[in-house]
Amino acid sequence: MTEVLRDSKSTGEMIQLVRVARGLTQTELAKRAGISQAVLSKVETGIVTLDDERLAVFAEHLDVPLARLTTCEPTGGVLSACAFHRKRNSLPVSDANRIRANLDLRRMQVEALLPLRDGEVTVPRTPPSDDDWDSPETIALDVRDAMGLGDGPIDDLVAAVESTGAVVIVADLGAARIDAIGSWPAGHRPVFMLNSRTPADRRRFTLAHEYGHAVMHELPRSDQEAEADRFASELLMPSNSIRSELTKLDLPKLVHLKPRWGASMAAIIRKARDVDAITDHDYKQLNIALSTAGYRTNEPVPLHEELPTLVDQAVHQHLQEGELIPQLADRALMTVNEFTNVYCKGSR
Ligand SMILES: [Zn+2]
Repeated sequence: MTEVLRDSKSTGEMIQLVRVARGLTQTELAKRAGISQAVLSKVETGIVTLDDERLAVFAEHLDVPLARLTTCEPTGGVLSACAFHRKRNSLPVSDANRIRANLDLRRMQVEALLPLRDGEVTVPRTPPSDDDWDSPETIALDVRDAMGLGDGPIDDLVAAVESTGAVVIVADLGAARIDAIGSWPAGHRPVFMLNSRTPADRRRFTLAHEYGHAVMHELPRSDQEAEADRFASELLMPSNSIRSELTKLDLPKLVHLKPRWGASMAAIIRKARDVDAITDHDYKQLNIALSTAGYRTNEPVPLHEELPTLVDQAVHQHLQEGELIPQLADRALMTVNEFTNVYCKGSR
């Protein structure tokens, strides 16, 4: 057996990352692997090194190939606070950690399948300035330019985002009260994971919001949630293009505008107020009308679902070039079973 020189600290970190992504506590994994929680804790911090035989037991219980645990990824900083949650109510810490760990794992898999080439990410990071020069709205319009969009509605936001080299993943994030998570560590692709349980209209706004964070908030800012909302609103509905459509706003008009601009009625009403197309009084009345109709919790006119294609295309191309699924699973450091479930849904 060959002696593999490895860094027990990064192996420990990887065990922890996969464990958290699988939603297991230290106690649960330790019990399954037949060691004490105290030892597992030392393994995860790199104080105790495991031999291959022990590691293989962990790999099996974590449903990953051994190589996943022993390969350190050159993606330092992925676990840093580059993640933005759009929380509804409160999200339990364990759910937040699980989702974040899944994002990190997905990033590693995707980058193994779709390595980043120079110049492929075409949108620059632009922090907002405190004057109006680089406002979230101006930055959103620059991003529209970079996406090669005109002034009108965006037909497919996911495709527009992917056209800038970013990766979009739609996944069931569990019952967790979270719409999306995104990160963009330096030297990597921006990756956004959207909750498949979120309705399509909110999912679109959420993706625009997360994209705004990625572009504007490499460093945290006190107003960042409001800024990301302003960015999202302008990206989806440029003020100068939509303003003239927002006068004399009522529910029938909103029913027409929603699928046209791909934004929720609530977001369109907010936009109308922000561009002064309606008075504050109208704004209140329209919101009351939304509530009375029951549209606050359940808006009519569902939007069509937008599905990402970038990663699917990469997998398809590898297969076309003669690579086999087990080889691709190896590349992504996944079991064949998991790889097939996650990345081959369309090509079976
Ligand atoms: Zn946010």
